[in-house]
Amino acid sequence: MNLSNYLEIKNKIPSNVNILAVSKGFKSQEIKTIQDIGQNDFGESKFQEAFEKQLILKDFKQIHWHFIGRIQSNKIKKIVQNFQYIHSVDSFEKLQKISNISCEEMKNPIIMLQVKFSNDPTKGGLNPDFLMMKWREIQELKNIRLTGLMTINPKGLSSKQNLELFKKCRSLADSLQLPDCSMGMSGDWQEAVEAGSTWIRLGSLIFGQRS
Ligand SMILES: *Cc1c(COP(=O)(O)O)cnc(C)c1O
Repeated sequence: MNLSNYLEIKNKIPSNVNILAVSKGFKSQEIKTIQDIGQNDFGESKFQEAFEKQLILKDFKQIHWHFIGRIQSNKIKKIVQNFQYIHSVDSFEKLQKISNISCEEMKNPIIMLQVKFSNDPTKGGLNPDFLMMKWREIQELKNIRLTGLMTINPKGLSSKQNLELFKKCRSLADSLQLPDCSMGMSGDWQEAVEAGSTWIRLGSLIFGQRS
């Protein structure tokens, strides 16, 4: 746990940039420690792991849970029931399914669509041209609040290359009139903020190395 990193970054970033504390691999007790100093947004990437912590922390209604992991179709119902934000929607089919289930469950999750600006085979994400082509259909889907785009840069890029990819994401979001960009992690959050991120997803910088 590194609360001084957390406080330092919080002080440094513009007020329109939010910190998502990525708590995967860490326990509910550690979430509570940082929640005590005012952090209420937590990101998790595996449903079962997250759900166990959500049960323990269920009385802390201020906490908003963000799903940021690879979405398995058979988990969509549980994700919709238990997360207020979903950052990692990487296909049109999954978005449709989220919309259908949200209607049935009377939920209205905030969605950021994952987009891919490089051909990194290890990362999911919609192709930007495909997104543009589907945009009309996407806008008609019910019970989702589509506020932005999310992207994960490939590992090993220079600072300049990271900045360039993040700028592409910001510019696509702007062209679709979406306010949010969920981009930047412990290693590249500064470039992401410079490019116009509104959600930086910080794990190891705050919680320490995951085992
Ligand atoms: C794990 C994870 C993070 C946080 O990574 P760090 O490098 O530890 O900050 C951010 N975003 C996603 C999608 C993740 O899976």
